[in-house]
Amino acid sequence: MGRLVRGLAGGGAFRVIAADTTDVVEEARRRHRLSPTATAALGRALTGAALLAFLLSKTPRERVTLKIEGDGPLGHLVAEAGVDGRVRGYVGRPEADLPPNERGKLDVGGLIGKGELRVMRSLPNGEIYDSSVPLVSGEVAEDLAHYLLKSEQIPSAVLLGVRVAPEGEVEAAGGLVVQVMPGAPEEAVDRLEENLRAVPGFSGLLKERGLLGAVGAVLAGLGFEKLGAESGLPPELPLAFRCRCDREKARQALRFFPPEELRKMAEEGGTEVVCRWCGEVYRFGPEELRSLGGEPAG
Ligand SMILES: [Zn+2]
Repeated sequence: MGRLVRGLAGGGAFRVIAADTTDVVEEARRRHRLSPTATAALGRALTGAALLAFLLSKTPRERVTLKIEGDGPLGHLVAEAGVDGRVRGYVGRPEADLPPNERGKLDVGGLIGKGELRVMRSLPNGEIYDSSVPLVSGEVAEDLAHYLLKSEQIPSAVLLGVRVAPEGEVEAAGGLVVQVMPGAPEEAVDRLEENLRAVPGFSGLLKERGLLGAVGAVLAGLGFEKLGAESGLPPELPLAFRCRCDREKARQALRFFPPEELRKMAEEGGTEVVCRWCGEVYRFGPEELRSLGGEPAG
């Protein structure tokens, strides 16, 4: 299970949201059979969506969806997270991969390419706030920081990291967003910038020190305090890769096919509906297809 913590630092100068999404990203990798670089790309976006959901939401039933349309080999990328701790997402070409970049890191920027980041916030009343910014680097963290500043007027630092083992498994994944509050003292901001320059990368810190240890390292000297129940939410929230699909929704999707198509599927012995969000496969046999309209009534 992934987890998310929230808190304050610098005596209220900073609002902090941090997440360990190792299990969430590993589940995404397994479900979509993602290449190592695609794992890092989607993993960063899933983590970013979870952080933004908690940063931007004002009520407990909101969701944030990130859509990245880049011109790189990955194709499109979609990541969604809700304040209920459910995270899901997919990419256009899960098998796409690239050699490491010149710094020896997984080349997420190259895999995503140039394009646009679109952020949609779904409110419980069905309203959707939608805004887009051009991608800065395609490395996701920088792109989200740029979005927060340009579209939400929230100056922030965003760190996202996914470490993939040579066999492809996710060793550590997570991230943090530090929102600089209005009136934050300059020396606190300087210290934060200094710390950010010094940290080697969030996934490495997470693997070595755990979530609170990693947050403590990024905010060294700035006194991180975890927020508790006084904020109206529990101090730690579980995060999980969990889709909203089910067999009934898949069955409803089949209703869009004309009767002759359904009959053909039935004659071929059945069909499968695959959820693009999570890769779940729902199988429908000839009987059920006929009952959906594949056979004339009566
Ligand atoms: Zn699904």
